[in-house]
Amino acid sequence: METDEIKTESKANVAVATIVDRMFRYVMTGCLTAHIILLIAFIYHGIKLFAILNICSVLLYTVLYIKKFHLTPNVHFLALNLEILIHMGLAVIFFGWNYGFQYYFIFLFTAIFMKVLNNIKFIQLYGVMQAVVYIILRIITFNMEPIYPKADEAVVRMIYLINICIFFIGAYVLANTVNHSNLLYRAMLSKDNEELKEQAQEDYLTGLSNRRSLYNQFDYLERSSNENFTYCVAIGDIDDFKLINDKWGHEIGDAILVSMSDIIRNMVREKDIVCRWGGEEIVIVMPNMPRNLAYERIEGIRKKIETVSVEGKSGKIYATMTFGVCGNYGETDLERVVAKADELLYIGKKNGKNQVVQDQKIV
Ligand code: GH3
Ligand code: MG
Ligand code: MG
Repeated sequence: METDEIKTESKANVAVATIVDRMFRYVMTGCLTAHIILLIAFIYHGIKLFAILNICSVLLYTVLYIKKFHLTPNVHFLALNLEILIHMGLAVIFFGWNYGFQYYFIFLFTAIFMKVLNNIKFIQLYGVMQAVVYIILRIITFNMEPIYPKADEAVVRMIYLINICIFFIGAYVLANTVNHSNLLYRAMLSKDNEELKEQAQEDYLTGLSNRRSLYNQFDYLERSSNENFTYCVAIGDIDDFKLINDKWGHEIGDAILVSMSDIIRNMVREKDIVCRWGGEEIVIVMPNMPRNLAYERIEGIRKKIETVSVEGKSGKIYATMTFGVCGNYGETDLERVVAKADELLYIGKKNGKNQVVQDQKIV
């Protein structure tokens, strides 16, 4: 169970990691495009410092995008954050607040809380640090004229509009990715839960009920029937299975076990419970069935089994099964009735196998 949980957790984590990876590529592409646009704008207006800054940014994003140095997501994330922070801080000091560079703070502030970095304390600290930097920058610029002289109102408006568009596109991509990864994570968890539930009830090889499921189904039957709840139990064991395994190999052994399970499943009633009790032992619980009828039914199954073969490398391989069948006769403890059937099975094994042995009670 514990390993199943780990498997589920890691499967969902892989899915989220894939999404995060995809988000990084979106963000890298977005940032690269944004900086190319800004670079052109700054060159066009002859603003050297920011042209150089943008060239650095374009280079950084190109490297990050192609993952040339196989950086970890954490390094990508920090590089991205610092680049935006530095670029934005300088832009605000040099140009003032009319250009809209401060909007990227809001973007960063939101982005940092995505579960990319595992260190939650660091994330919280970094978020607070960003807020503090933003407020300090605002206080400084309250009392300070921008270093660059104010450009034409048309230029200011254009850059402002470019910034605000980039901000909204970025925020949109980010929000969508978070939403998508949440939905995916939830879908994967619920699918895995269903699978785990099925696995917990079913034997993985034969698809028959496992013991736990047999007891659950039996409890349900007992609770939902009237006081005269009677049932028969049969237990079957493959004859000379060890020999079969030794002679033909474990895979053929498995195939025989699966084939016998299928035969039994197809020849019982819907309400009967068929369970892989142990290695090559199958228990069949037949509610409300007289023992002589149960005997006939199991005898039919035994006869069918001896005619069905499994394809081996050098031809058909046949196997047989021995059964013990008994009624419950007022005994409610299923385990005791199975033990009784097992004694009868043992008699069958001693008497030459490939037979059905029933109890001798007159019914
Ligand atoms: P008998 O006729 O008395 O039942 O003899 P046997 O050889 O069948 O009985 P024994 O209990 O000595 O051996 C059972 C064998 O079943 C041993 C084990 O390796 C094999 N077995 C148990 N589970 C599986 C399984 O899932 N697949 C395969 N291939 N073999 C299994
Ligand atoms: Mg056995
Ligand atoms: Mg056996």
